[in-house]
Amino acid sequence: MSENLEKTMLTQNVEEQLKKQVQEDHGKAIADCTDAELYLSLLKLTKEMIGASTVNAGEKKVYYISMEFLIGKLLSNNLINLGIYDKVAQILKDNGKELSALEEIEPEPSLGNGGLGRLAACFLDSIATLGLPGDGIGLNYHFGLFKQVFKRHAQTEEKNDWIQDTSWLTKTDVTYEIPFGDCKVISRMYDIDVVGYENGSNKLHLFDVETVDESLVKSGITFDKTDIAKNLTLFLYPDDSDEAGNLLRIYQEYFMCANAARLILQEMKEKKYDLHDLPAHAAIQINDTHPTMVIPELIRILKEEKNFSMDEAIAVVSKTCAYTNHTILAEALEKWPLSYLEKVVPQLIPYIKELHKRVAAKYTDPKVQIIDDQDRVHMAHIDIHYGYSINGVAAIHTEILKNSELNAFYKIYPEKFNNKTNGITFRRWLVSCNHELTAFLRNKIGDDFLKDADALEKLLGFENDAEVLDELDRIKMAKKRQLCAYIEAKEGVRLDPSSIFIIQSKRLHEYKRQQMNALYIIHKYLEIKRGKTPVRPLTFLFGAKAAPAYIIAQDIIHLLLCMQEIINNDPEVSPYMKLVFVENYNVAYAEKMIPACDISEQISLASKEASGTGNMKFMLNGAVTLGTADGANVEIAQLVGPENIFEFGVSSDEVIEHYAKADYVSRDYYRKSPAIREAVDFIISAQLLKVGDRVRLTRLRNELMNKDWFMTLIDFDEYTEVKDRMIATYEDRARWKKMMLVNIAKAGFFSSDRTIAEYNRDIWKLC
Ligand SMILES: *Cc1c(COP(=O)(O)O)cnc(C)c1O
Repeated sequence: MSENLEKTMLTQNVEEQLKKQVQEDHGKAIADCTDAELYLSLLKLTKEMIGASTVNAGEKKVYYISMEFLIGKLLSNNLINLGIYDKVAQILKDNGKELSALEEIEPEPSLGNGGLGRLAACFLDSIATLGLPGDGIGLNYHFGLFKQVFKRHAQTEEKNDWIQDTSWLTKTDVTYEIPFGDCKVISRMYDIDVVGYENGSNKLHLFDVETVDESLVKSGITFDKTDIAKNLTLFLYPDDSDEAGNLLRIYQEYFMCANAARLILQEMKEKKYDLHDLPAHAAIQINDTHPTMVIPELIRILKEEKNFSMDEAIAVVSKTCAYTNHTILAEALEKWPLSYLEKVVPQLIPYIKELHKRVAAKYTDPKVQIIDDQDRVHMAHIDIHYGYSINGVAAIHTEILKNSELNAFYKIYPEKFNNKTNGITFRRWLVSCNHELTAFLRNKIGDDFLKDADALEKLLGFENDAEVLDELDRIKMAKKRQLCAYIEAKEGVRLDPSSIFIIQSKRLHEYKRQQMNALYIIHKYLEIKRGKTPVRPLTFLFGAKAAPAYIIAQDIIHLLLCMQEIINNDPEVSPYMKLVFVENYNVAYAEKMIPACDISEQISLASKEASGTGNMKFMLNGAVTLGTADGANVEIAQLVGPENIFEFGVSSDEVIEHYAKADYVSRDYYRKSPAIREAVDFIISAQLLKVGDRVRLTRLRNELMNKDWFMTLIDFDEYTEVKDRMIATYEDRARWKKMMLVNIAKAGFFSSDRTIAEYNRDIWKLC
């Protein structure tokens, strides 16, 4: 029987199978079940179906190792990829149930901070969809990243208890003994199936420790950090850009790498491959520096357990491992003190020293050494010297790596450097989150774009078709209405769907400059108070978590929550503008916010956002970008043309020059611009201090005036001018709708299927 025929039979039987499953689980008919009961049965049935699908296989396999996989809820996506979403939705409807209500039941695994983890999740979807053999390897954090709860206009953190008795996780019988300097733990592998869109499946392997003790967490997210066997996989370290400086993080990283190395070697053994041919059968993608220890660990095992000489072991591993760089923020490039590594992983120290020695013998430039003169181990340097590929994640980012950040390495290894502009899976970020737009596109331009994202360009043929343009506008309005209903229920704020939805949702970090948006909001608020009211009401939406220890980020959240209270409760202002900072932004919230967006805020300080992927999701759903020339914004601008994006701000070259000369003085901008002065001073006005916390607000204003490391003020006046012009342009309805259309039509390049095809073509070479 052909594979497709088999699949058809499988799906034809969906109704019978679901009835049977529901009967078995709950002893009643579909119509008599609660949503929670139906969710459980659908979960089981879907898992079974994926289990029966073909496993992608081949002579060579990629292992994508990452500390984070921000996979989001899985039910809808799995149903879509299995090709049975519509069928299941109909069966439920026939029984008086809604699939969308079931989706709300599913807890979201929060196994990532933001873009980096979400990218890994999109990649797994695309690897499977392209039929490539490739598994993810990561950790099974019991409480994931924290759940954000607002109290008294500030973020507090609670554990996110996402694992349930029956979940997408499958316990395997794979266990390993993992030794640390001061203790040993026994690992256990759990698997989550990853099914491709109308294709075979792969796995996400998540390692855990048998002895982990959830009761260590008493209140919030604090726990006793000393007992590694009990706490190793409790939490994802809640930061993706500041150096952790934390032993537990090194324990976690080694635990992940040691398990990955054992699993990969075990699979090679099962397939009877000669380990000297490892590079012909395995590609290991190191997602940021966190999995770097897989390099010395593999070398160590080959040497100590597989009879390799040191030279052989290093040569084989160096041809197997490839590294992806995600940031040029200096504080995020991991540099572990040698003494920390000596404590946690003494077995790796001789190998790290050997790798260092070989580099030092060849190159005198201190910038390329593995161990520096302060005895810190530069993890990225291990990856670059002992991996065969290093890639940046957007064209401008890779150029900055080559020409400035990693220039010393580029001079040594020009052939290793390559760019792989990030992408997003259209199954989640279009098909699943925007049924209305997907249905309309299928109707207008056919189904091709579902498999070949570039086919979205066919939409350009309707650029001047008023009916098509009106329909895009109606779909946007429908998505805004849905979001309004959701936000009213969840946040208790009523919004006007005919207002302009301006959204900034992403991790909270000074380089992303939510504080610049906040200053604009203050500026608008004061304008309205003076009687200058906007033609159409404005709705400002934020979603963001801040690392608990990142004080200024917490202060920015505080400012925005205070402004929310002031604006929404001011009868003079609230008819013209509203502000909502949604609580606990996550993938599920993103899926609701993004399709409802008119103006997508991508306003990072040029050179600092390596790529961004939120920018791509918004564009695909018909939002117009307001952005700096940073990350993938640059490629968005090239694709849509300057008339379909609103750009502003100093260039990355100028920013890099300011840092080099240390000549940026924020106070100069404060002095020169009355608008800046007014907005910055408002932060400590009597009005704000009545609502907010004096310490936080004063600290934030001081930071902006005296330091402003991410140069908010340098771009503020131009930002205001361009944003005002953009808002005015919205009233040219014909032009705006056309901009929406062009943005959707040109988004095909940002499909992660394209990104993964490039990784495979240039780096993995699987088939
Ligand atoms: C896509 C995504 C991100 C990344 O957004 P950026 O704007 O690229 O930083 C972060 N969080 C969630 C939940 C996402 O879905």
